Formats: sequence, structure tokens, C-alpha cells
Amino acid sequence: AMVYAKKQGKNRFHLLDQEHYEHLNQKSELELELYRAVERGELGAYYHPQICLETGKVIAIEVLLRWDHPQKGVIGPNLFIPLAEENGLIVPIGEHVIRQACLQMKKWLDEGSPLQFISVNISARQFLQSDVLLTVKEALKESGLPAHFLELEITESVMIEVERTERILHDLKELGVRISLDDFGTGYSSLYYLKRLPIDRLKIDRSFVQDSVNDLSDANIVRAIIAVARSLKLEVIAEGVESKEHLTFLQQYLCDQVQGYFFGEPFPAEQMKEAVDEIEQM
Ligand code: C2E
Ligand code: CA
Ligand code: CA
Ligand code: CA
Repeated sequence: AMVYAKKQGKNRFHLLDQEHYEHLNQKSELELELYRAVERGELGAYYHPQICLETGKVIAIEVLLRWDHPQKGVIGPNLFIPLAEENGLIVPIGEHVIRQACLQMKKWLDEGSPLQFISVNISARQFLQSDVLLTVKEALKESGLPAHFLELEITESVMIEVERTERILHDLKELGVRISLDDFGTGYSSLYYLKRLPIDRLKIDRSFVQDSVNDLSDANIVRAIIAVARSLKLEVIAEGVESKEHLTFLQQYLCDQVQGYFFGEPFPAEQMKEAVDEIEQM
């Protein structure tokens, strides 16, 4: 830490500088490990069901990336996706996730699964920096999955380049892929974009859902998003459903679909059938 330690007065070192150095050090170590993880195939997909409120059936599934670190155990995406976005690794990682999702969905369909689609998260950097359209086309072709079984979850932050985003989304739509707007309400939301972009579904961010039962303004935001979706003829799903109270609230306001730990945490592909059976018997 000496290199970065700045002398303050006589023999005093600035503590923050040392912390900063350690932070940098940790980060580059993690970065190196992330490169290796990609090569060694330590990044894997977990799956989280999306449930139709009217029927109680699992209609779709979201792919959530996990890093199975040999020493540190399972690491969540919030710890490495931002890093991967900074150093560009998000492009190969993202391609891998899309291909994997298409292959897995095709496999489930071939086994007779009634799932309607699989949702893949695409971060804004990934969406704007890589050729998502080409990746999707190739993944669909390779897997033999018809396009309407694939959904991309994008966030409002892609709106910083609204014209490009509009073009890419229209191309994806033409291909037949579904688009949902993730973390809705937390970003650049403009009703104008909703009208202009070919979006199938809004995903209400879990921060609103979680406080909806004891915070009136969050409850009102959730109701307003459901109303906007209704009037624009979009589907709407709430994420972060953790309790019976959340569920009852969302049922009362006629949300289409729900997702959350109330129905269980994300699981590896092998547990799919078991997890779906359990949810549908609730
Ligand atoms: P997200 O897209 O908003 O995904 C939902 C996150 O909320 C997931 O966290 C999920 O496990 C968690 N979640 C779902 N229901 C509940 C609940 O009831 N309670 C609580 N406390 N949490 C719930 P996760 O898996 O840690 O993912 C975090 C974020 O990382 C995702 O947020 C997404 O933005 C990103 N991410 C995950 N996988 C990928 C990927 O393959 N590509 C990209 N670009 N981003 C990904
Ligand atoms: Ca998502
Ligand atoms: Ca979210
Ligand atoms: Ca997100």
C-alpha cells in the first residue's frame, strides 16, 4: 500500500489512500479471475420462474447469471456484471448467456414444457456496444428455437441512445423476439418512449413492489404502472414478490404476472420440473 500512501504532515498517512489502493488491488485480482472464469466455464445460468396470476401457472423463466467460484463459492451478478461492463467482457459473457438460454429453452420445449418464453437480461452497455441482433439470430439458428420463445429484458438506460435503440428494437421485433422493459420506474422512463418503442411488457422494479404494502406512494406507483401497461396494451409483471401480502396486493390491482422469492429462489436447470410443480401446487 506504500506506493499510494500519501504523506500528510510529518509521518501521517492518509487512510483513504490505502483503502483506495486495496480497492484497486482487489478489483484487478477479481478482473483477472473473471477472465479465467469465462475461459473455464465457471459462469452458469440459474433460472427464476414468472407466474401468471390468473392461472397460477409458470409461464416463463428468467435467466440469472451466477459465478461458481472455486474458492469463494457462488458469486451473484451484481458483483461481476458491472466489472464485465467496464472491461468489455460483458460482450462474450452476454453472447454465451443468449446461446445457452436458447439451447436450454429448446431442450425444455422438446421435453414437453409448456413454458411460453425465456427471458435474458441485456445490460445497456451490452445492448449498445455489441451486435445483439446478430448474436440473437445466430443463437436462434444454432438452437432451432423459434424467435417468439425468446425475450430480452432491457433497461431504461438504453434510452440514452434512443434512435439507435429504436432501430435495434424494431429489427429484433421483426425477427419475432419479445422485449420487456426491466426495472421499470427507476430510470429514464418517459411515456413517449413506451409509445414509440416495440415493447411487449413492463417489469415493475422490486423496490416499489417490496414497499408497496406499507408505503402508500410506492403502492400508488405500482398501481400507476399497471394502469399505464393496461392502457398501452402491454403486459406487466412485478418482481420481488416476497410475501402473501405482496401477492394479494398485486392480485387486487390485476397485475398480469409475478416473480419473486415467495415462489422460491433461482435454481439450476436440473431443478426446473420440481420447482414448477411445487409452485403450481401452492
Ligand atoms: P434484475 O434483472 O432486476 O433481476 C432480478 C434480481 O432480483 C435477481 O438478482 C433476482 O435473484 C432478484 N430477486 C428476484 N425476486 C426477488 C425477491 O423476491 N426478493 C429479492 N430480495 N430479490 C429478488 P440477481 O440474480 O442477483 O441479479 C442481479 C442483477 O444482475 C439483475 O437484476 C440483472 O440486472 C443482472 N444480471 C443477472 N444476470 C444477468 C445476465 O445474464 N446478463 C446481464 N447483462 N445482467 C444480468
Ligand atoms: Ca431482469
Ligand atoms: Ca430489478
Ligand atoms: Ca436489472
